Amino acid sequence: MPKKSSSNKKNVPSPLKDQTLESIAQLIKDKKASKVIVLTGAGISTKAGIPDFRTKGTGLYDNLQKFELPYPEAIFDIEFFEEKPEPFYTLAQEIYPGKYYPTKTHYFIRLLHEKGLLVRNFTQNIDTLERLTGLDEEMIVEAHGSFATASCIDCHKAADNEDVRGCVKLAKVARCQECDGLIKPDITFFGEGLPTRFFDRLDDFDDAELLIVIGTSLKVQPFASLIDSVADHVPRLLINKELAGASNSSKSGFDFKWKHKRRDVAHLDDCDSGIEKMAELLGWKDELHEMFVKGNEKLKAQWAVEELLQENQQEGKEEEEEKGDKEVDALAEELEKRLKVPSSSDQQEKEKDQTKESLKKNHKMK
Ligand SMILES: [Zn+2]
Repeated sequence: MPKKSSSNKKNVPSPLKDQTLESIAQLIKDKKASKVIVLTGAGISTKAGIPDFRTKGTGLYDNLQKFELPYPEAIFDIEFFEEKPEPFYTLAQEIYPGKYYPTKTHYFIRLLHEKGLLVRNFTQNIDTLERLTGLDEEMIVEAHGSFATASCIDCHKAADNEDVRGCVKLAKVARCQECDGLIKPDITFFGEGLPTRFFDRLDDFDDAELLIVIGTSLKVQPFASLIDSVADHVPRLLINKELAGASNSSKSGFDFKWKHKRRDVAHLDDCDSGIEKMAELLGWKDELHEMFVKGNEKLKAQWAVEELLQENQQEGKEEEEEKGDKEVDALAEELEKRLKVPSSSDQQEKEKDQTKESLKKNHKMK
C-alpha cells in the first residue's frame, strides 16, 4: 500500500491562490513547483486510438464475445488466463505496441522532464506510450506492468520479446521453451502483486511540490491512493473529463471544495485540450507541438523500417527453405541412383518418398 504523507509539514500553507490552471502554471513559472509527479491513466491514451475492450459495439468487444468471458475484466484475471489464455492474446493482438502513437499529453510529460521538473510518471497504462515519446524509462513507473517484457507464468523465465511479438501478431498463445508454461506479457493481472518498482519508488512523493493527475477515474487501488502520498500542502491538479477521487475529507481523496486545504484543482476537460491549455500558459505550446510532430514522425519511420526488415527476414527464411528443399531433393536422387532403386512399383515409389521426407525432416532440424 502507498504510504501516507509525512505529517511533519502539516502547518505549511498551500501556495495556491485559486482553483485555476493559471494558478498552477504560475507556480511552475515562479519555480515554486519544480518537483512534479504525474499520475496517468487510460484517459490519456484514448486519443491515441487504443480501443476500450469494455465498450459494447466496438470491434474489439465483439471480437471477444466469442470467448464467452464471464465479465470483461476476466481477460486480466490470472486464474482465467491459466484456463483460457486465448481471449487475452486476441486483445493483445489489438493493443500490442507498434501501431499507436503517443498523444500530446504523453509528450508533455517528456517535456516536463526536459525542463528538469519531472520527478516521476506513475502510469496505470500498459500500452508503453510513455516510453515511445523517448522519455527515459527510469522516469516511468508502470504500476500495472506493460507489454515491454514477458515471462513464463510457471518457471518465471523471461521470454524472448521477438518470439512473443510473433505470437501476438497471429493471436497465437506463446509457450515457454523451458517448461511449456504459458507466456504472459509482464502486465499485472487481477490476483497478482504490483511490480516491486512501484513500491521502491514511493519515496518520490516525499519531496514532490506538485502532483498532476491526468486521465484516470482513480478507481483502482492501490494506485488511486497515491494522491494521498504527497505532503498535505502540496497542490494537486486533476485533468480529466469528469471529477474523480473527490472525497472532501481531510484524510484521503481530493478536496475540491477547499473545506480543509486550499490545494486541489479540477480541470474538467479532454486530456489533450487541458494539457494544451497548460502548455500555452507555460509558454511551451510551440515546443510541445514540435516535439509531438517530430517524435511521431520518427516513430513512423522507425516502424516502417522494422516492418521492412521483418518482411525481408521472412522472405529470406522462405528462400532458404526452398533452397534447402532443392538440396534435399538432389541428395535423395543421388542416393536413389547409388542404391539403384528401380522406380517401377508403387511400393517402391512410396519408399522413395519416405526417404526424401525423412531427409527433409533431418535437414530442417539442424
Ligand atoms: Zn517456463
